[in-house]
Amino acid sequence: MASSGVRNGGPRMSAKLDRQGAGATPKAAAGKQRLSSAAGAYRRTNSGPLPAAGGRASSGGVSSRVRVAVRLRPRNAEELAADADFGDCVELQPELKRLKLRKNNWESETYEFDEVLTEFSSQKRVYEVVAKPVVESVMEGYNGTVMAYGQTGTGKTFTLGRLGEEDTAARGIMVRAMEDILADIAPETDSVSVSYLQLYMEMIQDLLDPVNDNIAIVEDPRTGDVSLPGATVVEVRDQKSFVDLLRVGEAHRVAANTKLNTESSRSHAILMVNVRRSVKGRSEMDVSISGENGHSLSMMGSLRPPIIRKSKLVVVDLAGSERIDKSGSEGHTLEEAKSINLSLSALGKCINALAENSPHVPVRDSKLTRLLKDSFGGTARTSLVVTIGPSPRHRGETTSTIMFGQRAMKVENMVKLKEEFDYKSLCRRLDIELDKLIAENERQRKYFDDEVERMRAEAQCRIAEAERECKITLENEKMKYHQEYLDSIKVLEEKWKTHQKSPKRQIKEAESTSSDIREAHNLLQDEKMLRQSAEDEASDLMNQITHWKKLEATATAEVVKLRKMLDTEASQKEKLEEEIGVLRSQLLQMSMEADETRRSLDKGDGPGKIFPGLDSLASQTGSSQPREHSNGPKQPIAKLSEQVGLQKILSLLESEEPDVRVHAVKVVANLAAEEANQEKIVEAGGLTSLLVLLRSSEDETIRRVAAGAIANLAMNETNQDLIMAQGGVTLLSMTASDAEDPQTLRMVAGAIANLCGNDKLQTRLRGEGGIKALLGMVRCGHPDVLAQVARGIANFAKCESRAATQGNKVGKSLLIDDGALPWIVKNANNEAAPIRRHIELALCHLAQHEVNSKDIISEGALWELVRISRDCSREDIRMLAYRTLTSSPTLQAEMRRLGIKM
Ligand code: ADP
Ligand code: MG
Repeated sequence: MASSGVRNGGPRMSAKLDRQGAGATPKAAAGKQRLSSAAGAYRRTNSGPLPAAGGRASSGGVSSRVRVAVRLRPRNAEELAADADFGDCVELQPELKRLKLRKNNWESETYEFDEVLTEFSSQKRVYEVVAKPVVESVMEGYNGTVMAYGQTGTGKTFTLGRLGEEDTAARGIMVRAMEDILADIAPETDSVSVSYLQLYMEMIQDLLDPVNDNIAIVEDPRTGDVSLPGATVVEVRDQKSFVDLLRVGEAHRVAANTKLNTESSRSHAILMVNVRRSVKGRSEMDVSISGENGHSLSMMGSLRPPIIRKSKLVVVDLAGSERIDKSGSEGHTLEEAKSINLSLSALGKCINALAENSPHVPVRDSKLTRLLKDSFGGTARTSLVVTIGPSPRHRGETTSTIMFGQRAMKVENMVKLKEEFDYKSLCRRLDIELDKLIAENERQRKYFDDEVERMRAEAQCRIAEAERECKITLENEKMKYHQEYLDSIKVLEEKWKTHQKSPKRQIKEAESTSSDIREAHNLLQDEKMLRQSAEDEASDLMNQITHWKKLEATATAEVVKLRKMLDTEASQKEKLEEEIGVLRSQLLQMSMEADETRRSLDKGDGPGKIFPGLDSLASQTGSSQPREHSNGPKQPIAKLSEQVGLQKILSLLESEEPDVRVHAVKVVANLAAEEANQEKIVEAGGLTSLLVLLRSSEDETIRRVAAGAIANLAMNETNQDLIMAQGGVTLLSMTASDAEDPQTLRMVAGAIANLCGNDKLQTRLRGEGGIKALLGMVRCGHPDVLAQVARGIANFAKCESRAATQGNKVGKSLLIDDGALPWIVKNANNEAAPIRRHIELALCHLAQHEVNSKDIISEGALWELVRISRDCSREDIRMLAYRTLTSSPTLQAEMRRLGIKM
């Protein structure tokens, strides 16, 4: 019952914790840490995600319990001899990780450890179980501690410090740890250095430099980290140099102990291995970023300080744990004995305090506990091997060793990654980069200077070349001009020479002159002959003159006779002039009267009577019916014309005096208004005179009055023929195109309109440009003119319609041919009634013939016809339009197509 009991706070519990804790190896924790670092967190922390089991997380790191293994030394020769009859005081159950400590033959206690190493355990296994996880942890950047605790002679040094030179299998933890470390580091970026110390009587001695025998512990006030700046630090590059160091250190230890008159077992040996590693992953990342994304990132990357991990492995071979209560047994005083054990007992107290979670841990009580501050209750991963011997004689020591181990198993550390920015190396790297840039800058400047120098030389070379070329060209030009100069001199000289030779030429000239003289002589001879013949002719002529003189005498008599006749004529002329004077005054009076009358009467709008004022003189003379003048009493002008003679009046139209012409034309116009006179006027050549006057006069009044007279004459059918025959249409057309006065145009338009009403003259009128002239006059825009144009068109259309009906005309209307339709359509709804009515009639006439229908439709006249048939205020025209529309199949069809209903 008792044998299966457990002590000291439940070792089973500890074992369970340990198994769970196996999951939280520093490796795993470090792996997580790496992940969080890779994610860009530069903070050095262990607060990343943690495994659920195996430890508590805190901002300080990952909880990691001190691991404790127990190692049993095999019986040594002495024990084999002395204790042969006794059994071991301990019984190991390595598979259960248990140790049974026999109290006596019938009682035992069972303890569980993290590892139970039997007397047969190899050094290799011991290393792997006890130290290897710690070493790996150190390589990953955590501090680590491997410590051996136990009674002197139980194998602490055997376990830790064997060099194994004669037998590699015997190599202890220190050698194997260094082997693993050296195998893992990258020599170009990482470094390993070692200090080897001994602590004895609270003094720290440098085993690598024994003169240094009181090294001070320095504590960083900020972090609390302890360091030994006075200790020798030797960088280790290979295993052999390390082993040599250990050997040197051991030798010094022995020497020191001899000097101090003590044994190695009374001192603590401390090996400190400092591992400094740069974090490769991150620097590699920087390289890849700069490689891919260019210079700027590269610079950013290069400005990031590299991260280094500075971890420390401390291997402590403690002094023997046995009590030295037998004061003086080894020649020490009690004080010395106390001092010797001070550090160890302080360690025990600290571990107790930590195991019991005591608020106070007396770390500062000894140098050992100060040095091991990080190993117990600190940030290091700590592995403790407690060594025991099998001998029952040392049961007490063994028991206390086991109890120490049990308590140590309760100590929790918070392992923490020892990672920091390596500003020094960044600074070094930047220095190097700066040096490189300076060098590059200097190189470039030199290149630039060289280039400038080269360009300067080249430029000078080119300038020299250009100057040379310029000189040559100049020289050539100079020579060329000089040559030209010489040539021209030569030419001048030749010319001069030629001039020098002139006497010869004069001779030549004289020769040519003599030949000329000969020629002249010949000519003179010819001349003489000619003169002779001319003289002959002259005498001949003289004879003729005599004959003529005789004839002249006869003629003179004749002349006298004629002169008499002339005188008679002159007197007659005088008489006539008197008559003309009288006539002129009469004419003046008449024209004044005529003007007066015209002003006083309104404009008559009879069909074709354009100039009614002049024919109404009768009203002034008492006639109440001016239109019936033919039946009325003779008018003064008619009387006058009878008295003076129409011929004379007409001759006055050509008078050189403008006034006379004006009065004459007015008189003629007045006469022309009388139907009875019209024929006489025309017969007497008055029409021609009027037409000529119309064309040639510059006086607007004359033109207007003449045009009016012609218009009146054009009313008569006989006269119409005569007007046509005398080229009147052409003359009227010309006036139509250049006259500007609306009244003149009105008269001209009226005359043409009258001609338009003559069936027989249609083709000729059109042929001589009558219709075009008519249409041309619409430019004037005066309603009177437009009314006459409309009348003319209506007349023309009516005649055409009549001719077509009688079968005298085939083909399209000449009006349409001459382009009258657009104007007709445009003015079909003119607001002036006379214009509108004429056009409406004209449209109806045109539409009556199928041959015109196409144009009527295309020009949009159909709409006007429809309008007329619906809206025309004059019923006759309205009916005419209606009949026209209903009788034309083409227009009917178009109306159906357009959906126009009648
Ligand atoms: P300690 O350092 O604890 O005082 P040592 O390591 O000096 O003890 O060991 C004492 C003796 O016991 C040495 O002679 C050593 O060779 C021997 N020894 C210790 N442990 C073992 C072991 N596991 N196997 C064989 N011999 C051992
Ligand atoms: Mg020893």
